[in-house]
Amino acid sequence: MKLKKTFLGFAAIALIISCATNPFTGKSTLALVPNSQLFPTSFAQYNQFLNENKVIKGTKQAEMITRVGERIKAATERWMNANGQQGYLNDYKWEYNLVDDKTVNAWCMPGGKIVFYTGILPIAENETAIAAIMGHEVAHALANHGQQRMSAGMLQQIGAVAGNVAIKDEQSRNMFNQAYGIGSQVGVMLPFSRSHESEADKIGLYLMAVAGYNPDEAAELWVRMKANSGGQAPPEFLSTHPSNDSRIAELKKLAPMAKEEAKKFGVTTYRPLGKF
Ligand SMILES: [Zn+2]
Repeated sequence: MKLKKTFLGFAAIALIISCATNPFTGKSTLALVPNSQLFPTSFAQYNQFLNENKVIKGTKQAEMITRVGERIKAATERWMNANGQQGYLNDYKWEYNLVDDKTVNAWCMPGGKIVFYTGILPIAENETAIAAIMGHEVAHALANHGQQRMSAGMLQQIGAVAGNVAIKDEQSRNMFNQAYGIGSQVGVMLPFSRSHESEADKIGLYLMAVAGYNPDEAAELWVRMKANSGGQAPPEFLSTHPSNDSRIAELKKLAPMAKEEAKKFGVTTYRPLGKF
């Protein structure tokens, strides 16, 4: 009992000193691991992932992923700076890679480390939809959704060892892998909560619009995702980012707002869809 109280005390202190402010919502979020510790782990795991998988270089599709990535990065920097968040991206080391894998998936690890699988390309159908997916995944990273999940996992682990707040490197790496879905199921993100999904949808729409990609395409993408979910196993991306009619309706409702946001950055017309 005493141990439990001690643990709760530790946990409370950890919570007080370890909250970060979400720049998009202004809400305080759980961040037990500061970016200065999280990013090196993320970068190392990303490199390991690239070493163990077939990275495609020099093709039109690989170049497209890089092009969209650079534009989303530039839009993110402009948007952050315009919203008083100078310095937020200082430690980011953006990277965009296309991996030869028929899994329908894409993700962004902390610090701007992005992977697209070739399996998601046929459903995306065009460059604008790639921008929608990338905007959404980058938004999860910017809003520290994975980190919040990792922090929650750490609290559980701390609970399991009754007050032992010091997490060993290996434990930390394991929790990172659990939170970001790396390891046994390589690169398969665990599902985010509904509120995290809505947040990422909204931020992602803004980012794609500021990058010059028509945000109307995001709803169309999710319609295609839904159509491709038939059969026994839904695509990976869909199982971790469940699609439904209310989400599609919400994206349609938010698209005009994203266009208004883009106008503030001088974007009034959009690139062609870029069908491939
Ligand atoms: Zn998501």
